[in-house]
Amino acid sequence: MDSVPRYYDSLDFQSLWAQYPTGTDFLQSTYLFSSDEIWSLQNKRFLDQMVRAWQIPFYQRHWAKVGMLAGDIKSLEDLNSIPPFDVSDLRDAIDRSPPWGDFVALDLEKNKPMPLVLQTSGGTTGLPRAMLYSPKDREVMNINTGRRLYMQGVRSFDVIQVMLSLGLSNGGFLVREGIWKYSGAVPVMTGSGAQTSTRRQIEIMQAWKTRHLVGFPAYIRKVGQVMKDELNLDPRSLGIKSLILHLGVDDRASLEKLWGAKVYDTYGTNECGSLSAECEHQTGSHVFEDSFVLEIKDLETGEDALPGEKGVIYQTTLFKHLAPLIRFNSADISAWSPGACACGSHHKRLQRIFGRSDNMIKLRGTNVFPEAVGAILAKQSDVNGEYVCIVEDSGENLEEKMTVKFELLPSADNASLIEQDFALALKESLGVKLLVQSVPVGSLDAVTGLSSQSKIKRLIDLRKTRSVK
Ligand SMILES: [Zn+2]
Repeated sequence: MDSVPRYYDSLDFQSLWAQYPTGTDFLQSTYLFSSDEIWSLQNKRFLDQMVRAWQIPFYQRHWAKVGMLAGDIKSLEDLNSIPPFDVSDLRDAIDRSPPWGDFVALDLEKNKPMPLVLQTSGGTTGLPRAMLYSPKDREVMNINTGRRLYMQGVRSFDVIQVMLSLGLSNGGFLVREGIWKYSGAVPVMTGSGAQTSTRRQIEIMQAWKTRHLVGFPAYIRKVGQVMKDELNLDPRSLGIKSLILHLGVDDRASLEKLWGAKVYDTYGTNECGSLSAECEHQTGSHVFEDSFVLEIKDLETGEDALPGEKGVIYQTTLFKHLAPLIRFNSADISAWSPGACACGSHHKRLQRIFGRSDNMIKLRGTNVFPEAVGAILAKQSDVNGEYVCIVEDSGENLEEKMTVKFELLPSADNASLIEQDFALALKESLGVKLLVQSVPVGSLDAVTGLSSQSKIKRLIDLRKTRSVK
């Protein structure tokens, strides 16, 4: 027996695909389950996931704090009695047990060799948080990427141009694996603007007949604008069918108009891959409920949010071997989409990701998400949508103020009027006054990282004292 672990010996693939059907098999089976069928499948997988989690020091320690015992959790109905955890607990676990943290159940002394892969979160400060994936972890994530692409109109031999950085962060690599293994389409990894210049991205799109774009909305918008303004080329003439992205609160209508293509939203993270995806009806993204249990909790009360009410997403995985998540407070803010979807699936749907609770600024008693500022800016005229929010202390009382710098198109003839209009729209929509300042196109690039990074920075926090949330 070869002592080197072989990826294709490490899993029973036929059995995996029976449990986690792919592509059209998925759309004809799990996707159409009734709510009861979904719950039964989740309950079974959840109890298995709990057995695994009890073997992991991180959970043993976290749950011992509240005196939880293995027999206490008898079904998914008991989920609420499990204490949640957040990113600070993960950081603490890494400090206790470097380099991966004791939430990763890997014992190099005892475990058989296993093919592993490591990627990280796309963190903007400090060392990014690493995550290791076992073959099963990675393969289920790949299957979910493939499902998402099929739901969003990707078909065999379509060329998909992926404009996400290839490096430590999981985004680009994970998309490539899912496209290649489970969609039949062809991934073309142009990466971010730092890896392939915007002009070369456009040349490739034309020459290789790209059918779908994957990337961040701000960059995809920029590419379309460069095409129009600098190359005198109509992005709609390229025949791009869909823009596959994390929409957040970015403006769907203007992107669809610019490219003449459908925009499909998705929710994904480094630890979990794609957790949900919009179907062709664009009514919010359907959670892959055979792989995850998601909860949305009210930020103030911690109670389950009703459909349409915003709250923070708690994630529980149902398939992970190395590092299962049981009630991870993701800090991502969303809401359940009310009503049924015309596609016939009962898998619950997330509205957009409105922002992150740890990026939320409390200004004179009002919660402000930088992302919401971007959504309001997108509706203004004579702007390209680029902005950054700067929050700082001012005056003797160290009162907090936020200034929004935004890029103004050279064709605009009255900057101060546009600033006034924007400030008024912000006040009306957010209920709090922000300062605004227009700057020339391109001048925020170095601050936000638009042309060089996948993860775009929209908030600069210069406060000396952090306000209590
Ligand atoms: Zn649907």
